[in-house]
Amino acid sequence: MKQSRLFTKTSKTVPADEVSKNAQLLIQAGFIHKEMAGVYAYMPLGLRVIENIKRIVREEMNGVGGQEVLMTTLQPKDIWEKTDRWSDAKVDNWFKTKLVNGTELGVGLTHEEPIVDAVSNYVSSYKDMPFAVYQIQNKFRNELRAKSGLLRGREFLMKDMYTFCRDQKQHEEEYEKIVAAYFKVYTRLGLGDITYRTYADGGIFTPRFSDEFQTLSEVGEDNIYVDEDKKIAINEEILTDENLAKLGLERKKLVQKKGVEVGNTFHLESKYTDALDLYYNDEKGEKKSIIMGCYGIGVSRLMGVIAELFADEKGLMWPASIAPFAVHLVSLGQDEQAEKIYADLSAAGVEVLFDDRDVSAGEKFAGSDLIGIPYRVVISKKSLEAGGVELKKRSEQANEIIAIKDLISLLKK
Ligand code: ATP
Ligand code: MG
Repeated sequence: MKQSRLFTKTSKTVPADEVSKNAQLLIQAGFIHKEMAGVYAYMPLGLRVIENIKRIVREEMNGVGGQEVLMTTLQPKDIWEKTDRWSDAKVDNWFKTKLVNGTELGVGLTHEEPIVDAVSNYVSSYKDMPFAVYQIQNKFRNELRAKSGLLRGREFLMKDMYTFCRDQKQHEEEYEKIVAAYFKVYTRLGLGDITYRTYADGGIFTPRFSDEFQTLSEVGEDNIYVDEDKKIAINEEILTDENLAKLGLERKKLVQKKGVEVGNTFHLESKYTDALDLYYNDEKGEKKSIIMGCYGIGVSRLMGVIAELFADEKGLMWPASIAPFAVHLVSLGQDEQAEKIYADLSAAGVEVLFDDRDVSAGEKFAGSDLIGIPYRVVISKKSLEAGGVELKKRSEQANEIIAIKDLISLLKK
């Protein structure tokens, strides 16, 4: 893409109404646009990052047999009444609305009920199981505080998956497979080493523990206690002697850290399937309960965490796996040769943002650092005299001169 055609611009000023670093950087660099507190629109660069995160999540969910669907945002009240959640005081962050005729509707904040309702049209036998259904969709929650940019949205992107199994044994197998897939996602996003499986409260869904996936960060809202040897943690909310004993953890081995919850998986038993009258017949024709699990990943929150963690005083620093472009090509008065490099790299499948604008070198460099593309290639009179183009990684200070003929093989991966 040519930067002269990109309608967003980088800005030198930090947005005054944002206190969180991820929102400040992402707005300054033109990745997101703030509609209101906790509600952000994705501009072209930001959408490319979101789509890359979605692609990774999708590949890993498909890898464990997940079947993608897209549920609706508007939800009928009656299915939520069957599970006693419509008027549940614990579900206190729900946006609700009404049809013209007064019929009440829920605005999607989670999708257990609608998913069970939808699959019940098709599922009846033990042969149908196990299976997993997921979607990547905007969720709406009336959050009390929305001051953390993409970390806490009132409208945000979540991947939510639901599994259906014939018994606990089958459920445990599915559940652990999906937990393993979660770590593949976090590893591909560059967060593998600092993300911990964390025992937590089962929430409104179940009396059992849930597993949170907590990425260590000072901006995290959760206090977690980490066992470095076991690579496991426990949320402060459930830190009792009894729970430690149950989980085989020792208090003196645990270190307190701050975490951002980037995922959460739950055992749902048969609470929702029973309530919505979804059962199956086993081999003997006997009617049995279906065991469910549900599995969330905060897609837009992940973009916020990565923006926040991988940054320096000059701006963003995207991991290659989700960067909006692989290479930022900066031309300093060498447009003809730069056009040729741009065309050759593009033809070789390398995604390039080409800064062909008629602005100063200083402005180009500052903008490039702010946007945070992994590689910067500068072509200038000076670089040509030195034998080619200057190649620099965003994460490193040093740069090197590369012959133009070697550039493609070096950047093509
Ligand atoms: P939190 O405790 O942070 O409010 P939650 O436990 O209510 O989150 P879940 O219902 O477990 O959230 O949702 C699944 C995932 O969706 C979370 O692990 C998180 O990554 C993401 N998520 C939840 N709420 C938000 C939000 N308001 N903004 C962005 N992402 C969110
Ligand atoms: Mg949660």
